Amino acid sequence: MKFLKYDTVIIGGGPAGIAAAIKATELGLKPILVENRDLLGGIPLQCIHPGFGLHYFREDLTGTQFITRLLDKLESLKVEYLLRAHVHSIEYIDYDKKLVNVITPQGVMRIYAKTIIYATGARERHIFEIGVVGDRPDGIYTAGEAQTLMDIYGVLPGKEIVIIGSGDVGLIMARRFTLEGAKVKAVVEILPYPGGLMRNILQCLVDFNIPLLLQHTVVRIVGRKRVEKVVVAKVDENLRPIDGTEFEIPCDTVVVSAGLRPNIDLLEKLGVVVDPSTGGPVVNEYLETSIPGVFVAGNALVINDLVDYAVEQGEIAAEGAKVFVDNGGMPTKNWKYVKKGRNIRLVVPQMIGGERDVVIYARVAQPERNVFVEIPELNFRMFHFGVRPAEMIRFKIGRNILNKINENADKITIQVKPR
Ligand SMILES: Cc1cc2nc3c(=O)[nH]c(=O)nc-3n(C[C@H](O)[C@H](O)[C@H](O)COP(=O)(O)OP(=O)(O)OC[C@H]3O[C@@H](n4cnc5c(N)ncnc54)[C@H](O)[C@@H]3O)c2cc1C
Repeated sequence: MKFLKYDTVIIGGGPAGIAAAIKATELGLKPILVENRDLLGGIPLQCIHPGFGLHYFREDLTGTQFITRLLDKLESLKVEYLLRAHVHSIEYIDYDKKLVNVITPQGVMRIYAKTIIYATGARERHIFEIGVVGDRPDGIYTAGEAQTLMDIYGVLPGKEIVIIGSGDVGLIMARRFTLEGAKVKAVVEILPYPGGLMRNILQCLVDFNIPLLLQHTVVRIVGRKRVEKVVVAKVDENLRPIDGTEFEIPCDTVVVSAGLRPNIDLLEKLGVVVDPSTGGPVVNEYLETSIPGVFVAGNALVINDLVDYAVEQGEIAAEGAKVFVDNGGMPTKNWKYVKKGRNIRLVVPQMIGGERDVVIYARVAQPERNVFVEIPELNFRMFHFGVRPAEMIRFKIGRNILNKINENADKITIQVKPR
């Protein structure tokens, strides 16, 4: 067994983990990045479509181009990393000592570190989580599985496809299937509005004449050996199928794109406090979880619509690790709670100290036009032409504004109000 010692262990070599490793090195920490696949890069490795890096690199890159840029930087800084190294468990030994147990082809490694940055991404929700019943024949995939088959292994999973869910992954896959010669019969969405970014609705569905059935659901999958058809019905305002509205769509493949959940199994075992609205841990503005010195970034923290935010969170977590290592812990004492106000479904971070600029990420519950995003306690107000559940609202509040919080106040509220 091998024993190693670092300032920070970064778990997960996707965009968030790579960005954290780069930033930690630039800040003078000694990090090690641990990834369980053969290559660093995470999800963008399988994304050959553009739409990556518009904010971070101010260029429209494919997923693979985006990740190559980050990897070039990582290599130039000579950051240490392990591949085919699966983090099996984490142990909290003391305030500034954690143990990360890693299984590698060379044997088990035990890595001791003052801090951990957890960046293991997300997992896809599968068919059993969305209540679709029926037969279980061949031809049912999650969108990520279908994407891996096509873009990594060069296999077209089917010819006539129905996609359940209109999140970004499903929309992008609808375009990919069409470009490869398959027919996407419909994208079926239970909600009255699409789940993905507007640019993806236009570029992936409208441009290719793919029907989007809003307020519909697949009530049954039918097929003996292989999928033969799906039964679709309209839903009422409680999202329940309306009797008599059923119709059939013949198809050979069903692709489920029903959203992502932060992949936080190891943190849950460690006992972090989880926010049910994000599915990720409760964090402060350094993205530190309820366990001192354990930080989280990227889709393990909150499902991001843009890779740029995952990268930014990796950098913030690395800054947090630096503060922790330099001070033997987090110096802030007076945390304030960030409350979800009107039309806010989730917000990150959930706690702030107010001693530094804070980046806030929030999602609304309902689409609305002409609104202000406000923090009444700070007289902070920002106009938006429109807010949609699919699109993350991201903004920075300067330390000078945060200074205005009353010393005795125990919370600030993020809310959306009509103009
Ligand atoms: C189909 C699809 C299309 C997308 N299109 C766009 C787009 O056009 N534009 C855009 O900006 N964003 C897009 N995104 C979103 C973007 O890919 C994500 O925001 C980003 O990849 C999140 O980065 P991450 O580092 O948090 O997670 P990931 O990229 O998921 O990386 C997590 C890494 O952690 C590793 N890992 C997990 N568990 C362990 C463990 N126990 N031990 C060791 N390693 C572990 C995984 O192998 C993985 O490499 C898309 C996503 C998908 C799925």
